[in-house]
Amino acid sequence: MNDQIPTGDGHGALDDAEYSEFMELAAQEGFDLEEVEGDIAAAGHGPLPVLAVVGRPNVGKSTLVNRIIGRREAVVEDRPGVTRDRVTYEADWNGRRFKVVDTGGWEQDVLGIDASVAMQAEFAIDAADAVIFVVDAKVGATDTDEAVVKLLRRAGKPVVLAANKVDGPSGEADAAMLWSLGLGEPHPVSALHGRGTGDMLDAALDALPEAPEMTYGGTAVGGPRRVALIGRPNVGKSSLLNKVAREERVVVNELAGTTRDPVDELIELGGKTWKFIDTAGIRRRVHLQAGADYYASLRTAAAVEKAEVAVVLIDASESISVQDQRIITMAVEAGRALVIAYNKWDTLDEERRFYLEREIERDLVQVPWAMRVNVSARTGRHMEKLVPAIETALAGWETRIPTGRLNAFLGELVAANPHPIRGGKQPRILFGTQAGTKPPRFVLFASGFLEAGYRRFIERRLREEFGFEGTPIHISVRVREKRGTSKKK
Ligand code: GDP
Ligand code: GDP
Repeated sequence: MNDQIPTGDGHGALDDAEYSEFMELAAQEGFDLEEVEGDIAAAGHGPLPVLAVVGRPNVGKSTLVNRIIGRREAVVEDRPGVTRDRVTYEADWNGRRFKVVDTGGWEQDVLGIDASVAMQAEFAIDAADAVIFVVDAKVGATDTDEAVVKLLRRAGKPVVLAANKVDGPSGEADAAMLWSLGLGEPHPVSALHGRGTGDMLDAALDALPEAPEMTYGGTAVGGPRRVALIGRPNVGKSSLLNKVAREERVVVNELAGTTRDPVDELIELGGKTWKFIDTAGIRRRVHLQAGADYYASLRTAAAVEKAEVAVVLIDASESISVQDQRIITMAVEAGRALVIAYNKWDTLDEERRFYLEREIERDLVQVPWAMRVNVSARTGRHMEKLVPAIETALAGWETRIPTGRLNAFLGELVAANPHPIRGGKQPRILFGTQAGTKPPRFVLFASGFLEAGYRRFIERRLREEFGFEGTPIHISVRVREKRGTSKKK
């Protein structure tokens, strides 16, 4: 198992010997080694560090996030009150990859402005390794801004202050006023026009650790594994938490370095200590009115970012909903290990069980590899199966296939099941490597474009051969073209 935080040395999960072996293989095939190295580095990352963008409504957070992720179809176009299902995005700045948490989705009149801003900022800051705090320089610092500053201070994470809406030199003086917030140098930017955003992002990335060590606990490698218990309201999260925390001993003493995370809880289960993420949120059961879906999404996204494994609870007594699927997708896209717990099993009659299986086949086809447990938080049914499921999923998440073994497997696969001939050509997998873990990431080098169906076949075969239970796996294919150039497909 590779327990190391990715160091960004460009070898991904490959050790030196593996790396040389692989490069030799690539050289034999006539690949440009520098490009191959780039491909491995690009594919071979583990969990990415998280940058949160927080601030009051209308200061320009979404505009800034769009600029960071390099997209035009602005989240800004969203009408107020419209729930967005995405809050985290992958981004790349000067070759560094990271995640951005956007808190720009705004639900009016749910909580009142101060509470709303505070709440969304709190989730985002909690999940982040560094924060961009956006203030409208034209308006200046408001009481709400000051409230966010207090949160930021308490969290103690690196903060870069963006003084937005400085569209020209004349606005610089407004930006300078924001020194008063006590967060250091205000970076004058225009999210709308791009002015100053590059320098500001440089500063933000300087503050961002290479790997998500803050939320992952760089010092806590080998410490308690992080579990996010997620699911839509009323599926039984707090009941389950109470059940496991009551039957086993809740670890009350604070371990070093955990005091900063009062929302997380150490729980002893199956003879091990686990860190359950955002249990405060589950226990507090903040009662929000209808329309508060955005906060729920944000909180779930934050918990997933901080976790290594997501346990998604589904209320088995009801039909699997779009919201259930969305939560599962969140965990999968975040690249976390996945356990699906079908709760309230005590209420199921034969008929419901029959329909549930049909629903799983129909609605959860994209995650046939997820670990599954059928539980009842009420009766305690199969609680003992939860820990083994989590452990299996984490093991799959960390599995690393040595390059030699992988290529032997690929050779057999190609020989037995060649890619269909297309336009007189037959694309062939030349060789491959597993460039990363957590989750497993593969780079395959091929002589031509591999069809989606064939890629799915490869994934299926990889899973049959090597397991990868409970984990998403990523496969990227690089096509080698004539004249020694390779291209991302
Ligand atoms: P959010 O609520 O913080 O996400 O703010 P938005 O990104 O939705 O922006 C609010 C409004 O401010 C929109 O009308 C944007 O076009 C505008 N805006 C954002 N950034 C800038 C900027 O740098 N300069 C100016 N003049 N307007 C901006
Ligand atoms: P949360 O919103 O996801 O935290 O859900 P709760 O834990 O508050 O549970 C919502 C409702 O479902 C409560 O009335 C629980 O008593 C009930 N519930 C939770 N787990 C089970 C279960 O396993 N079986 C049954 N029958 N009811 C359950």
